[in-house]
Amino acid sequence: MKEIALYIHVPFCIQKCRYCDFVSYPNRQSDSIADYFKVLIQELQIRTKYDSLQDIVLKSIYFGGGTPSLVSPEILKDFLLHLRQNFQFSKFIEITIEANPGTLNPEKIRDFAYVGINRLSLGIQSFQNRFLSFLGRSYQEKDVHNLLIHLMNSGSFLNWNFDLMYGLPFQTFSDWKKEIEYVLLYQPSHFSLYNLTLSQRVPLGSFLKSHLASFPGQDWEASIYRWTQQVLGKYGYKRYEISNFAQPGYECLHNLTYWRNQEYLGLGVSSCSYLRGIRMRNTSSLSHYQKKIKNGQSPVIMKDILNVKQKLAEEMILALRTSEGVETEKLFKTYPEPFVQEKLILLENFVQSHLVYKRAGRWILTSRGTLIANQLFLEIFD
Ligand code: SF4
Repeated sequence: MKEIALYIHVPFCIQKCRYCDFVSYPNRQSDSIADYFKVLIQELQIRTKYDSLQDIVLKSIYFGGGTPSLVSPEILKDFLLHLRQNFQFSKFIEITIEANPGTLNPEKIRDFAYVGINRLSLGIQSFQNRFLSFLGRSYQEKDVHNLLIHLMNSGSFLNWNFDLMYGLPFQTFSDWKKEIEYVLLYQPSHFSLYNLTLSQRVPLGSFLKSHLASFPGQDWEASIYRWTQQVLGKYGYKRYEISNFAQPGYECLHNLTYWRNQEYLGLGVSSCSYLRGIRMRNTSSLSHYQKKIKNGQSPVIMKDILNVKQKLAEEMILALRTSEGVETEKLFKTYPEPFVQEKLILLENFVQSHLVYKRAGRWILTSRGTLIANQLFLEIFD
């Protein structure tokens, strides 16, 4: 039996946020969502055949989006039942749903827990109305507080996350302090922080061009990142990945699969998979995806068979994102010695520049290294 993680992309949202570059469609009727889940089940059958998915144990299931909390608990219940009929579930399976504050109410939270979802990930982004409206989010500060108070009182979820965003225009240190005060007030078991990155394709992309000076900039971001890490550390949160903090025992199993370079299957429009050393991506067009599945064809439009050097670089980059770091012994066991030696020389250079440190046979990013991680990853990828 082989353990893998399963990701399901749910590409529906109430409205399109102004910074969003994900595959998501606003204002869809509930019929479209029900139809989409029927197509997902067909994809599962097709992929089982094409990707030889026999003898599989699922260790995690992650409904990501889009806004999966728009899906009714009944649809999720049927879908999970179908998965159970086709795969074995690990005893400690983690089942996450991403949710937005505007789409949840006390009944839905209770019902999500009732159908077997055991982890809730809330895309809050900010507790302040001026940032929520700038980002084009569909809810207000008061909705967030009402939701969190209910969540804490109901006890439906012990394992829950929320995301906050930094690096927003005109955001000051005192604005960010306020956001972190709410993390400490509500104490989620897991917390993720992301900086706002804008592509030219999204409505806020042009805003960035003409208002560059209003964005706080990299030095500010670096200092609030360091400050946040220190404060959260005092309250028992450990940073176990560049953007992710958890109370002990609440690290996200599903995301650890990605960072440990382990196998996963992605279902749905635009989802990615990594199976038997092959990276795959489904079509990003909903109509193309539905057409392919209805014709009994695989929706995978890109397959990338990694060579040994690429695999090694990817494994190192993913591991460096985490506080576990890169394990020297594992690299030598898995990859040809000359390739590993070459990369270790590079890591040694990073150590000299105080960007990486060594501990018990592992190479781990320092705080300074974390702040310029993407540059280091480019060098590793060569
Ligand atoms: S809720 Fe998420 S996926 Fe949907 S539009 Fe906003 S950022 Fe994009």
